[in-house]
Amino acid sequence: MPLIVQKFGGSSVADAAGLRRVAERIVRTQKAGNQVVVVVSAMGDTTDELLDLANQVTTTPVGRELDMLLTAGERISMALLALAIGELGVKAKSFTGSQAGLITDAMHGKARILDVTPKRVQAAITEGAVAIVAGFQGVNRATGDVTTLGRGGSDTTAVALAATMNAYMCEIYTDVDGVFTADPRVVPAARKLDYVPYEDMLELASSGAKVLYIRAVELASRWHVPLHVRSSFSTLPGTIIADPTHPCMKDISMEEAVITGIATDKSESKVTVTGVPDKPGMAADLFEAVADAGVNIDMIVQNVSAENTRLTDISFTVPTEQGPIAVAALRDHRQHLGFDEVILDDAIVKMALIGAGMRTHPGVTARFFAALAEAGINIEMITTSEIRISVVTRESALDAAIRAVHTAFGLDSANGEAVVYGGTGR
Ligand code: ADP
Ligand code: ASP
Ligand code: MG
Repeated sequence: MPLIVQKFGGSSVADAAGLRRVAERIVRTQKAGNQVVVVVSAMGDTTDELLDLANQVTTTPVGRELDMLLTAGERISMALLALAIGELGVKAKSFTGSQAGLITDAMHGKARILDVTPKRVQAAITEGAVAIVAGFQGVNRATGDVTTLGRGGSDTTAVALAATMNAYMCEIYTDVDGVFTADPRVVPAARKLDYVPYEDMLELASSGAKVLYIRAVELASRWHVPLHVRSSFSTLPGTIIADPTHPCMKDISMEEAVITGIATDKSESKVTVTGVPDKPGMAADLFEAVADAGVNIDMIVQNVSAENTRLTDISFTVPTEQGPIAVAALRDHRQHLGFDEVILDDAIVKMALIGAGMRTHPGVTARFFAALAEAGINIEMITTSEIRISVVTRESALDAAIRAVHTAFGLDSANGEAVVYGGTGR
């Protein structure tokens, strides 16, 4: 019997009615002749609410305890979903990440999967039950402690199980009809894409399109797991992310678009170091100080130094929560680095234009900057890859910027506004 993995995000199981609706969909899939493994997220915004609670009792949460707390969210939804499926007369068994054999390293809050040994999940589906696995969690063998895979990590649980168990498809059910040319919450004219190559999906996810978690896309691409991102609130076909030769691609037009979409990311801040002596080794020393503090750096811009002073400014972006750490680390080294001052700015946003067609179509960059200029948007930083152009601009300019670029590249939908069925966008 073919095996299908179905993952339901928090907005799909936000309340009892949602759980019942999802249970019916799972039962329909099983009755159509499939074995079904389900991965479920915590209900609604439970994970954020648990985090808010933790922040009310401590300013320095310990990773082990935070993971203990957050994994409780998925335990609630998996058990309720199993009960709701049972109510429809179908056997269902829920498993924590540990019981499902998701073995991870010991990095609390961002654990990586080392091995998947889903013996109990396999036994449950062989018996004819639906197996339900709590998303975004695993266990570290050395310590025996539960771990979490990072925010949005239920997608990774689903793909890891689909890869290990040889599922023919991994369906990611969410609150929009698939992957769009831009976040439909920000750009109502966004168009649903029928097909997105893994390569473009990786860039979209890493540039902030949270519809799929980056590590899940990496795993899917490495193990050739076809993904179908679709709404749990409708029966419309969604977006397929698969190898072009996969049989599920037979009905999908393969005409390559020049631009796949636009992604935005508000989670970074900009650090600017002014009056840096322009001499060999300065950048190395400066970034070593930041790296030693455990801070990840994304974009970097260095200005040309002024002729008379031989001093320059260096700006870079870091995850917002690491901004104060980066600033403190630099101030600690001010004497030896010899710069003037460090400025932290968290009112910035990153916007990326993505499309594998950029490789072969000239003029994309020019059109991108012309669209931003016409909309009066000032650009503060730029980076590119072969298939992506990213800029940093003011957060207040984001909506205008993204809509201008969306229209300039002809991405606006001809069939009205995109539907957002649920979720709070938190
Ligand atoms: P879930 O709870 O199902 O995991 P998420 O909130 O993680 O859902 O992801 C779905 C959300 O991703 C959508 O509601 C949408 O606002 C957002 N999103 C961002 N970029 C895109 C995009 N390009 N296409 C579709 N959705 C997007
Ligand atoms: N519940 C977790 C989160 O909100 C994991 C997930 O939904 O994928 O990040
Ligand atoms: Mg998600």
